[in-house]
Amino acid sequence: MSQPSPFTHKARKRFGQNFLNDQNIIDRIVRSIHPQASDRLVEIGPGQGAITRQLIEACPQLQVIELDRDLIPILLAQFAKYDDFAIHQEDALRFDFASLIKNKQPLRIVGNLPYNISTPLIFHLLSYQDRISDMHFMLQKEVVNRLVASPGEKNYGRLSVMVQYFCQVENLFEVPPESFDPKPKVDSAIVRLQPYKTLPYVADNFDFFSHLVNTAFQQRRKTLRNTLKQIADSDTIASVNIDTGLRPENLSVKDYVELSNELHTASKTS
Ligand code: SAH
Repeated sequence: MSQPSPFTHKARKRFGQNFLNDQNIIDRIVRSIHPQASDRLVEIGPGQGAITRQLIEACPQLQVIELDRDLIPILLAQFAKYDDFAIHQEDALRFDFASLIKNKQPLRIVGNLPYNISTPLIFHLLSYQDRISDMHFMLQKEVVNRLVASPGEKNYGRLSVMVQYFCQVENLFEVPPESFDPKPKVDSAIVRLQPYKTLPYVADNFDFFSHLVNTAFQQRRKTLRNTLKQIADSDTIASVNIDTGLRPENLSVKDYVELSNELHTASKTS
């Protein structure tokens, strides 16, 4: 299906390149994002511009971050005519997203992400959550299932808790492998993450909370009573308000925050 063109680019596995070639899906993604001219919109991994072309029509001040330098001329050929468009040829995992903020306006982030970097990239972006209004990502369907999972579900884990601590998460729709060239081996889905303006539950000490969640899910099959031994002494464990006979997948975000705050307070007073 690919047309011969001076810009023919061979997809690189190393950069997780699966280019969208399904106009219906691209339209649907752009409709979900609903870009506006005044948005501070950032696309991660524009590739050959499949989504970019439509985003920039609505929002000419679009900023893109693309690691593969061979794609830069392909993008410039199409979009250099937009005065406020800019390409940042960098690794999104190390990119300073605060540098894109203008007039304190929060960022809107979009990306059909390389699947191998999706989890670390989401964690990197969460460190800017107070400066981001929303994020729309194409991810492996299985990762989206983990992002939206509720307590008790099999996909519920560290990723669910840590992302849901910061964001409202919506699974928008699925995308089949046939919508890409080359076809990925997995199904994909579009997810919307909206960081809360005010966090519903606040951990007194975020690093402690993060460590607690991490430790709990390292041993999914153990009860909390067992796992918490690594973090707190037995008197403290006996004093908490949560049923420590539960397994990590049975605690909600609120439960984890409360538990973290109780344990952290106890650790300071003991
Ligand atoms: N958005 C395009 C391309 C998707 S493929 C489309 O839908 O067709 C994923 C894109 O992310 C590729 O262009 C790849 O080069 C780019 N990419 C991979 N790793 C990256 C990183 N660490 N930082 C920024 N871009 C990256």
